[in-house]
Amino acid sequence: MNHEAGELPPNAGKAATAWAKVRSRLRQEVGDVEYRTWLRQLTLSGLEGDVAHITLPTRFLRDWVRDHYGDRLRVLCQAEMGGVRRVELRVAAEAPELVQEAVAMPASPPGLAESLSPAPAAPAAAAEGGKNDWLVPLDPRFTFDSFVVGKPNEFAHACARRVSERPAQAGFNPLFLYGGVGLGKTHLMHSIAWSLREREAELQIAYMSAEKFMYRFINALRTQNIMEFKTQLRSVHVLMVDDLQFLIGKDNTQEEFFHTFNALIDAGKQIIISADKAPNDLSGIEDRLRTRLSGGIVADLHATTYELRLSILQAKAAHAGVEVPARVLELLARKIASNVRDLEGALNRIVAHARLFGRPITLESVPEVLSDILRAHDKRLSIDDIQRKVAEHYNIRLTEMASARRSRAVARPRQVAMYLAKQLTSRSLPEIGKRFGNRDHTTVLHAVNKITELMQEDPTFAEDVSLLRKMLEM
Ligand code: ADP
Ligand code: MG
Repeated sequence: MNHEAGELPPNAGKAATAWAKVRSRLRQEVGDVEYRTWLRQLTLSGLEGDVAHITLPTRFLRDWVRDHYGDRLRVLCQAEMGGVRRVELRVAAEAPELVQEAVAMPASPPGLAESLSPAPAAPAAAAEGGKNDWLVPLDPRFTFDSFVVGKPNEFAHACARRVSERPAQAGFNPLFLYGGVGLGKTHLMHSIAWSLREREAELQIAYMSAEKFMYRFINALRTQNIMEFKTQLRSVHVLMVDDLQFLIGKDNTQEEFFHTFNALIDAGKQIIISADKAPNDLSGIEDRLRTRLSGGIVADLHATTYELRLSILQAKAAHAGVEVPARVLELLARKIASNVRDLEGALNRIVAHARLFGRPITLESVPEVLSDILRAHDKRLSIDDIQRKVAEHYNIRLTEMASARRSRAVARPRQVAMYLAKQLTSRSLPEIGKRFGNRDHTTVLHAVNKITELMQEDPTFAEDVSLLRKMLEM
């Protein structure tokens, strides 16, 4: 039988335990730092005959792990997972990076390659081997025009604009952008690069992930081309390093990065960094580097709001030239709250589905087309969250959610919480009952009916419950 990524065979429990063993042995063998850098993101996605399918989020990581740890991984899997003889490493659900790389090169404006050739100071050898390695794999979709600005990102956006208009100005150098996954860091960095390039085609811009920086650096060390590496890197006008958190714990690389950083800033070049956390919260970074990272402007991208998500969806639908009913966009904006990448993915899937089957997009078709995505996002809202919020709202203790007390003052909020747990999570009635002091599923059902009834009778109460619901869904 063929198992899709993310799906495990029926004896998944056993496989998961064996897999956990493989991981912990791997960790012991390579040490914490190396493990965290390269191996933490390995997931067992399925077993098929004697093959263990293991996925990684990017092609780069996949190749690296295969080249450096492939044999160890196989041996450990053979030892811990009965019946496994081979290991297949795959890239999880086409990471956006791949698409980016694939589309970016040919779509780059003409002249980009020439203008990025190494500075005259660079040795001739560098021109051969290294030239394209610094080439910005700019994604043509990531421009300021396509970036939707809202409260959560307006400051970061304004800083990015400012840097693109007047690079290397005091106070804005380095520009440090940070925020959670999929909130637009990479999009903003590429936008700056496009905009700079438009203004001044001669500008040399190096954009790379910290992972790539490290990889190039390690390679340079190994092939004894470190001088060339330094010269090349220091000849750019603008250096952008994306996802700096990947540099954490890599002492050599950090050291090199620190020196490059200083050299460029001192020479009046612009540096733009992104990371998942603020400089002060990045652990495993040396203090002197931390200080320098915070020396310009630090701007964060906050979690999206419902309004921003809706605007983004509207913009993307309009751009794609498809008619998507407002209620569908609202549903997506409400349900998929974590990051914009997932939001986009959902919209793309709906559009593709409609095109494929030649049917209009309707509210009814969404749950079916997106069942997996919606389910995954449901899980984010836990019964705990709901209980906490409801208890807070009605000013009762959290423990009352599971207590046996039946007085109206605590029983009603408890019913509201059960109702919301049913509406907002994918938990079954018995599961919900269990979390409310081991109550029976019929008690939960009764609560759901009772609240539904009350909401119909009493508009003020209905409004109160919808407000709670909205707050929970934000
Ligand atoms: P990050 O680098 O922070 O993880 P990305 O920049 O890769 O996130 O953004 C993920 C996806 O969401 C991209 O396709 C990007 O175009 C889109 N996106 C994020 N924020 C916005 C926004 N404000 N407007 C339009 N698209 C956005
Ligand atoms: Mg990114």
